[in-house]
Amino acid sequence: MGEALSKIIKQLGDEKVVLGASLKDRYPHIWQMDEPLNTQAVILPGSTKDVSLICKICNEHKQTIILHGGLTNLVGATISDSKDIVVSLERLNNILEVDETSRTMTVEAGAILENVQNAADEKDMLFPLNFGAKGSAQIGGCISSNAGGMRVLKYGMTRNQVLGIEAVLADGTVINSMKKIIKDNSGYDLKHMFIGSEGTLAIVTKAVLRLREKPSSRNCAFVGFNNFEKLTGFLKYADKALGGKLSCFEVMWNSTYKTLTSPPSTLAPPLDYQYKYYVLIEALGGYPDQDSTHFSEVLETAINQELILDAVIANSASDHNWFFNIREDVSVMKAGPGYDQHFDISLPINKISEYVESTIQQLKTIDQVIKAFAFGHLADGNIHFIVMKSSLDRDLKNKINDIVYAPLAKLRGSVSAEHGIGLDKKAYLPISRSVDEIQLMISLKKTIDPNNILNPGRILDLNKV
Ligand SMILES: Cc1cc2nc3c(=O)[nH]c(=O)nc-3n(C[C@H](O)[C@H](O)[C@H](O)COP(=O)(O)OP(=O)(O)OC[C@H]3O[C@@H](n4cnc5c(N)ncnc54)[C@H](O)[C@@H]3O)c2cc1C
Repeated sequence: MGEALSKIIKQLGDEKVVLGASLKDRYPHIWQMDEPLNTQAVILPGSTKDVSLICKICNEHKQTIILHGGLTNLVGATISDSKDIVVSLERLNNILEVDETSRTMTVEAGAILENVQNAADEKDMLFPLNFGAKGSAQIGGCISSNAGGMRVLKYGMTRNQVLGIEAVLADGTVINSMKKIIKDNSGYDLKHMFIGSEGTLAIVTKAVLRLREKPSSRNCAFVGFNNFEKLTGFLKYADKALGGKLSCFEVMWNSTYKTLTSPPSTLAPPLDYQYKYYVLIEALGGYPDQDSTHFSEVLETAINQELILDAVIANSASDHNWFFNIREDVSVMKAGPGYDQHFDISLPINKISEYVESTIQQLKTIDQVIKAFAFGHLADGNIHFIVMKSSLDRDLKNKINDIVYAPLAKLRGSVSAEHGIGLDKKAYLPISRSVDEIQLMISLKKTIDPNNILNPGRILDLNKV
C-alpha cells in the first residue's frame, strides 16, 4: 500500500475506502463490467472536505488519482492501473435545492442525470440535458466531459446549463463559485475552464444548474428521406417554420435505423425500411393544442413541397417514449458477434453526406469490419459511428481510426464533438487543435496541477507536442 493511501485511510476511516478482495465488484466502465478494475483502492469521499483532504495528501506524495463518475464515457477516460488511486463521487449524490424563482438546482457532483431531470420535472421545470446514458451518468461526469446529447440544438451543451461550480484543485484548494447568476463578467469565467477538462484540472464536487420552464407541449415525428440535400433543407425549413420550438433533429442512416428497430430490439419501426435516411424530430412549445396542429401542418407542407417523403407523428406520451427509445438504445448495435469501436466527430453540415458515404465505403474494404453504423445529432454537425469488428488487433484499430479521423483536418472538423479525448483519442488531438492550442493546454495543466496527479495522461501527454 502506498504512503498516500495509508494516510488517507488514517484520516478518512476504512469505511470510505474499498480495498483488496472488495474491489472485485468494481469495474472501469459500465460496458466493461466483466473487466477487473486495476487500482490500489477506490475512495468514496462523503464531502468536499474529504475530497480536498484526499487531493492534499495525494499531491504531497505525487500520488495519481483517476476520477470515476457514472463510468459511461466512451473514450477510455476512467481506466486506471495498479499504482493509481480511484476517487469515485458516487456518495456525493444529493440534490441540495431547487430554486424555482432563480430557476436553478444545486446538486452534488455524483447526482445521476436522470434524478436531476426528475427533480426538475417534479417542480414543473426542465433540465434539458438528455442522452442515452442518463440513468447512470453523473452531473460531475457530464460537466467534466461537457456532455451534449439530443437537445443541444435548442438549449446548448452542458456548458450552457451550468451557472456555478465548486471544484477542488490538485493541491486541495476548494474553488467555490456556486453562484446562481447567468451574467458574470467579473474577470475570467473560471468554471468554463473546468467544464470539459475531463477531470484533468480539478474535481467537481458541486454545481448550480440552470433550469428552464417546462414546455407544456411536446411533438415528435419520424421522417423519411432518400436525398441528403433534402434532409438538410428540411432542417432549415423545420427550424424556421417551428419558430424556435425545434429541439431535436437526430439522423439515422438506413442500416442503423433497421438495426435499432429489429430483434434483439423490441422496438417496432415507425416507418418501413424503404428510405435511405430517417430523422427523429421533436418540437417543444407552450400551447399544446395549437402546437400539435402547427406541427402536423409543418410536416404536411413539407410533404406537399416534396421536402420529405413520409412522416409518422407520435400521438401519445407512450409514442414519444417509443420514438426516443429507438434513438437512445444504441447498445442494440453492439449485439451479435464482434467488438465495437466508437466515434463522435463533428464537421460542417454541408460536408456530412459525402464524408459519411466515403468513410463507410472505406471501412467496408477492411475484412475484419463486420458493420459500420452511422447516426447522430445532425443539427449540431455531430455524427457518431459504431464500427463492429472481428478483432481487437491494435493495427486494425489504428487503421479504422485513420479512415475516420484523417479527412477531418481538411474539413476543419473535430475528432470529438461531445465525448471528449480521454485516452483513446489523444493521438488524434492534433487533427482538431493546433500546436499552439495544445501547448497552451499543457501550460494550463502544468500550472494548475504541477505534479500531474489528476487524471494523468488523459487528453494530453505533457511532454509531447
Ligand atoms: C449509451 C450511451 C449514450 C451516450 N450518449 C451521449 C450523448 O449523446 N452525448 C454525450 O455527450 N455523451 C454521451 N455518452 C457519453 C457519456 O455518457 C458522457 O460523456 C457522460 O457525460 C459521462 O458521465 P459519467 O458520469 O458517466 O462520467 P465518467 O464516464 O465516469 O467520467 C467521464 C470523465 O469525467 C471525469 N469525471 C467524472 N466525474 C468527475 C468529477 N466529479 N470531477 C472531475 N472529473 C470527473 C472522469 O475521470 C472522466 O475523465 C453516451 C454514453 C453511453 C454509454
